[in-house]
Amino acid sequence: MDNCIFCKIARREIPSHRIYEDEDILAFNDIHPVAPVHFLLIPKLHIESLADVQECHQALIGKMLLLAPKLAKEQGCDDGFRTIINTGRIGGQEVFHLHFHIIGGRERLPGMIHHG
Ligand code: 5GP
Ligand code: ZN
Repeated sequence: MDNCIFCKIARREIPSHRIYEDEDILAFNDIHPVAPVHFLLIPKLHIESLADVQECHQALIGKMLLLAPKLAKEQGCDDGFRTIINTGRIGGQEVFHLHFHIIGGRERLPGMIHHG
C-alpha cells in the first residue's frame, strides 16, 4: 500500500529501529514507547486490522504469535509482557496496518480492565 506508514517502514522508506525481520514479518520499536520495552510486530503483507484477517492468513498470524514471546524475552521481558491489538475505531486503532504491540519492562504494568 503506497501511503501506509507501516508498509513504508517495511520497505525502508521510513527509518525504524528494527529488532527482527524475516520474509513475512517485521518487528520494530514503537516511536512513542509507553514502557521500557515497546515494540510492534507486523506482517509485511498489508492487512488493515485484525478484523480483516482471513483464513489464508492463519499460518502468518500463528507465526507472529509464536514469535512474540521469543522477541519479548530477547528484549528483556523475563517475567511476562502485554500484547495489545487495537482494532478499528472502538479499539482506538490509529495505524491501519495490522500490528501487535508488545509491551513490558521491569515493573508490573498497570491494570487495563477496570471492573465496577
Ligand atoms: P495503534 O493505536 O494503531 O494500535 O498504534 C499505532 C502505534 O504506532 C502507536 O503506538 C504509535 O506510537 C506507533 N507509530 C506511529 N507512527 C510510527 C512511526 O512512524 N514509527 C514507529 N516506530 N512507530 C509509529
Ligand atoms: Zn500497510
